[in-house]
Amino acid sequence: MANIKFYSGEEIPLEMHKVRIVQKLFLPTIDERKAHMNAAGNNTFLLQNKDVYLDMLTDSGVNAMSDNQQAAMLRADDSYAGSETFTRLEEKLREIFGMNYFLPTHQGRAAENILATAYVREGDVVPMNFHFTTTKAHITRMGGRVEELVIQEGLNPNSTHPFKGNFDIPRLRKLIEEVGAERIPFLRIETGTNLIGGQPLSLENMKEVCAVCKEFGIRTVMDASLLQDNLYFIKTREEACKNMTIREITAELAKNFDIIYFSARKLGFARGGGICIRKKEECLRMKEFVPLFEGFLTYGGMSVREMEAITVGLDETMDEDIISQGPLFIEYMCNELQKAGVPVITPAGGLGCHINAMEFLKHLPQQEYPAGSLAAACYITGGIRGMERGTLSEQRNEDGSERFSEMELLRLAMPRRVFTLSQVKYVVDRLVWLYENRHLVGGLKFVEEPKVLRFFFGRLEPVSDWQDKLVAKFKADFGDSL
Ligand SMILES: *Cc1c(COP(=O)(O)O)cnc(C)c1O
Repeated sequence: MANIKFYSGEEIPLEMHKVRIVQKLFLPTIDERKAHMNAAGNNTFLLQNKDVYLDMLTDSGVNAMSDNQQAAMLRADDSYAGSETFTRLEEKLREIFGMNYFLPTHQGRAAENILATAYVREGDVVPMNFHFTTTKAHITRMGGRVEELVIQEGLNPNSTHPFKGNFDIPRLRKLIEEVGAERIPFLRIETGTNLIGGQPLSLENMKEVCAVCKEFGIRTVMDASLLQDNLYFIKTREEACKNMTIREITAELAKNFDIIYFSARKLGFARGGGICIRKKEECLRMKEFVPLFEGFLTYGGMSVREMEAITVGLDETMDEDIISQGPLFIEYMCNELQKAGVPVITPAGGLGCHINAMEFLKHLPQQEYPAGSLAAACYITGGIRGMERGTLSEQRNEDGSERFSEMELLRLAMPRRVFTLSQVKYVVDRLVWLYENRHLVGGLKFVEEPKVLRFFFGRLEPVSDWQDKLVAKFKADFGDSL
């Protein structure tokens, strides 16, 4: 897919697929939306999906499958051992990544559990460009520590750096000197860096990082969950890769790593996961945990149907026309919002569009959860469900005080191949309206606050009657329209 120039001069991303199965959606009225948001404790995780018009909570396990994926699911081989379905997946991964061994897991975090269990010991340090929630949890569970070495631009919401997920290599060298290579069980590169806005790394940077690791005998691990978007950004933003195919870029990248793991809830348009391994001894070190935690070695907790879908989905991931859809829709959305002055994270990344709530709701103090308030206001305004990625998603300090997050983001994920451009235009329109009425948006406070993972289950209420005022203004501007 590419941006197509219209006669009018406008450039828009043109879908290179047609829709052959549809799901009916409902858009509740603004009064109903406000009632639903309150019933859900002003927490978008607690909304019922039937009350959501556009579900932009996540890109995990909600990407649309292709006709070929659906067809492949029908020919799945159900046998417990020696399944042909497994062999097809194993061979596809070998073809794409060039690794010799594959261990299946039921999803991405299960691969992380096995990696951490096999390699991380008390006092170890695992360097990475940026952490992911489940990755960090497994490493710290084993007594290890995560060191984040992303370049400074990565944490600047307004930077225009094309590869904000890159490693700061001088800092990596310094860290290795300080802690010693023997305390580093592996280095992890997260492609399409999730928690800083789906930002990519360049092929050049990843090669350099792996070269440094080789120099010190440190094992290299790639988290390829968001590799799909990263590949597209390498192809379109990295001069040296302009004339390479996606397959060539993938091969050139993969050969630097000892281990590549992934969540197939993102990579491969399906559900599941696994670990690809270069050396036999490394495979043996992890293999025993698969039957223990996941399932037999030929399914690892996945259904055979899902495995067939992953095999075809991985092949589709090598097609630039297919993988460009997400990034181009996200770029379109970010550009349109920026034109209207709405503060978004730049440059547009993969995964979704990230609204800078700290900037959007400048008048709100961080203790009133600006990103959480914006998520609630966004649902009330348009029936659009996003995810808070800010202070609400943090855990309180030991002494009970708030740990303020570095950024306050509202993430509006773009599940791949799911939405149409008019739906994206609708989201832009309602966000622009909300931005123009941002002074009406107030804060939230907890009424039920769980100690752990409060962002999943916590319930909140508005600190004032700001939601009534927002609804009244909406009605004044839109009349009877939904
Ligand atoms: C989603 C994700 C994971 C975890 O995968 P699950 O399948 O959700 O367990 C790990 N790493 C990254 C970068 C992810 O985006």
